[in-house]
Amino acid sequence: MANQREIVSDDSMLSVLPQRSAFLQFHKPSIDEDEIGEVVDTLRSGWLTMGPKTLRFEEQFAGYIGAKHALAVNSCTAALHLALDAIGVGAGDEVITCTFTFAATAAVILHCGAKPVLVDCLPDTLTIDPEQVEAAITPRTKAIIPVHFAGHPCEMAAILEIARRHKLVVVEDAAHALPAAYRGRRIGTLGDLTAFSFYAIKNITTGEGGMVTTDRQDYAERIGQRRLHGINRDAWKRYADQGSWRYEISYPGFKYNMTDLNASLGIHQLRKCDRFHRARNRCAALYLEGLSQLAEITLPTTRPEVEHAWHLFPIRLNLESMTVGRDGFIELLRQEKIGTSVHFIPLHLHPYYRQVFGYQPQDFPHSLAAFEQIISLPIYPDMSEEDMRDVVQAVTKIVKTHAVRRRTGRG
Ligand SMILES: *Cc1c(COP(=O)(O)O)cnc(C)c1O
Repeated sequence: MANQREIVSDDSMLSVLPQRSAFLQFHKPSIDEDEIGEVVDTLRSGWLTMGPKTLRFEEQFAGYIGAKHALAVNSCTAALHLALDAIGVGAGDEVITCTFTFAATAAVILHCGAKPVLVDCLPDTLTIDPEQVEAAITPRTKAIIPVHFAGHPCEMAAILEIARRHKLVVVEDAAHALPAAYRGRRIGTLGDLTAFSFYAIKNITTGEGGMVTTDRQDYAERIGQRRLHGINRDAWKRYADQGSWRYEISYPGFKYNMTDLNASLGIHQLRKCDRFHRARNRCAALYLEGLSQLAEITLPTTRPEVEHAWHLFPIRLNLESMTVGRDGFIELLRQEKIGTSVHFIPLHLHPYYRQVFGYQPQDFPHSLAAFEQIISLPIYPDMSEEDMRDVVQAVTKIVKTHAVRRRTGRG
């Protein structure tokens, strides 16, 4: 199979044969013997849930980011919920976020009993538009949740300035942004609180998991308690030799703690985070170079002041110059054995947000347009250079065979 490309000489045959023999998954986590050995060690240790390895992972994560506190939890969704809870978001409050995001970003606002106020993204980076944030502020606004879409940091200088002027808290959704930086400062050190994801397809993974970083002692203490039933912070030690059976409930907290099994993965994934990042950078550079000549697609832009985490590599189809739409393009890539995904279906297009808040598709034209054009190409450390070239070749082939032929005027 691998040699089909070489042995086919007839050009017309090329367009019907798949380029690859094996399907290229949209994502595959990079797990090796380090993680496996550590999980086995945890299993043999007799301590499975939150314990010494979770603490070690937290310390290492805080050190890596340069934040005073890092609190490990069982998802980024939990991290976002705890962050909003820590700043006291509740009934009657409003929290502003971008419609161009995943379900979790706004669901946690609703979990707190508050109202999500959606705004549009910027047309190029697809991150939240600071001007629209400012226009959406009311006396009930409590916080802003910028989402570092695809790993490209939001316009943090403008957002932090708006927040300071209006006395709002900034909780960053950094599910895509490990490791990313804005004007030389790592994401996780800019806003009041930052939430990271270690979901299976994120830049580092613990299977399921998340982390909150903050420099504020009071927020850290609150989150430390409320992630585990709202009982005093070291309650998990109560089964260890230095522990006690006695505990006090100071708040009806959540069951959001990380486990040592997950942290076993995290400890090793974090050590490899810079290597993974270099691999993602290489893949992005190869795509940017390899696809730069195609006028029918728009490639992701990177602002000079940011370090991009390249969690996603979203391309956008210039639909008026193609005879195939976004869904058709995805199907053609699948036939070329390239897995893709779409990030995101904007929140305001979903039935819940339309019905409860009355949003219309045209309310956020940049997000709507992006959604209709966007495809996420595979980008992860375990891809070989040949895999990357196959992606470039498949995209190029589909674009070339489905480009609208321009009238030359000579016809
Ligand atoms: C994945 C993701 C989340 C949720 O992460 P979990 O760890 O699965 O809870 C939140 N926001 C964005 C933008 C995401 O992509």
